[in-house]
Amino acid sequence: MANLAPKMERDLPPEILAFLRRAGEIAAARGESLYLVGGAVRDLLLGRPNLDFDLVVEGDAPSLARQLARASGEKALIHRQFGTAKFRFGNLSIDLVTARSESYPRPGALPMVEPGTIADDLMRRDFPINAMAIAITPSSFGQLFDPHGGKIDLERKTIRILHERSFIDDATRILRALRYEQRLGFKLEENTQRLLIEHSPMLHTISGERISHEMELILREEEPERILKRAEGLGVLREIHPSLRGDGWLEDRFHLARQKASPDPELYLSLLTYPLNEEETEGVIARLKIAGQKARNLRQVLRLKGGLDALADPQLPRSQIYRLLKAYPPPAIAAAALACDSPPARHNLELYLHELRYVKLFLDGEDLKGMGVKPGPRLGRMLEALLEARLDGRVSTRGQEEALVRQWTGEQG
Ligand code: ATP
Repeated sequence: MANLAPKMERDLPPEILAFLRRAGEIAAARGESLYLVGGAVRDLLLGRPNLDFDLVVEGDAPSLARQLARASGEKALIHRQFGTAKFRFGNLSIDLVTARSESYPRPGALPMVEPGTIADDLMRRDFPINAMAIAITPSSFGQLFDPHGGKIDLERKTIRILHERSFIDDATRILRALRYEQRLGFKLEENTQRLLIEHSPMLHTISGERISHEMELILREEEPERILKRAEGLGVLREIHPSLRGDGWLEDRFHLARQKASPDPELYLSLLTYPLNEEETEGVIARLKIAGQKARNLRQVLRLKGGLDALADPQLPRSQIYRLLKAYPPPAIAAAALACDSPPARHNLELYLHELRYVKLFLDGEDLKGMGVKPGPRLGRMLEALLEARLDGRVSTRGQEEALVRQWTGEQG
């Protein structure tokens, strides 16, 4: 069995190493065995930084978590029902769970859970590269526990499932497989790829919330378009919704989004749904159970797309651009600017986004009242007209704004 203690000494920041040793000692004093598992082990072996630490204890996770958190002056967040706990250690986020075995009552359902050994716990995981553990209790500190050949898979750059029913039990693993494959530059193992294609319809057994969560994880990757393209190529994307495409167009837009800004999942999602019509967009919103502001944003992008012809005029006065766009939230405008194919429309969207929406008048409602305008709709219209004059460059100083108001009030008599 490989001992990774020297590698841990070399590669982990000293405070993390000290925390792990201390946690192992505390667990051992309680007669429990503690392990570092999952992504942190994988990334340690790959030499990639990872600040999300998952610990598994053969014992009572909530009680141990409380003790560990207390030792570093933190509080643990406990889910007694699931035998899980979460706490912070400096800028590390630590999850601690009781080792468990899982069985699936039906595909896509949440598993039934029972306390188990570290071997059971690794058996329930998605891929061998994520199913390794390092013992951190003092008597065996650094020992790698790798019952499914994760280290060899890392060397061979392979994503493989642990058993034939893996994708049936939990089809979110289909999306996870593609995410790791593209993130790490690995390849799906042949049988895994065959089963992934065969079982991709099992994605229908997964709830909207869970699909949405996986989609967000994909869109948080450095180059999400690679995953979406691969998902399209393998017939997976259409199992999420038949209208979705991971094609060259999307690739270009995601690249552009990164060149121009630092896109968040919401912006990427707007680009993904941009080519869709209303019915398809609503289909995606329903399938992914998107609600609230996020759903509104996708609908606004769609509406904006419908109105782009009016914006595609290079001679359009700035006040007109403002009028056409002022009702839209900036994220929807940013998405449309990246997605639209008309250069003048794109120019106008960007002009609004970077300049016009920030233009402020010197005068406000109080100033107008002070100049004798009565409160009411007319005052509101005057402020709007004043802003349009300002946007089009007809006024540019406080004095000119006042002169224009005086001209209007004078005309009214
Ligand atoms: P990263 O956060 O870098 O994507 P991670 O490995 O930390 O990778 P998490 O999603 O935090 O990923 O999951 C932690 C661990 O839990 C995984 O390494 C894996 O062992 C296990 N796991 C997560 N999701 C599943 C799943 N759907 N089926 C089986 N095991 C899973």
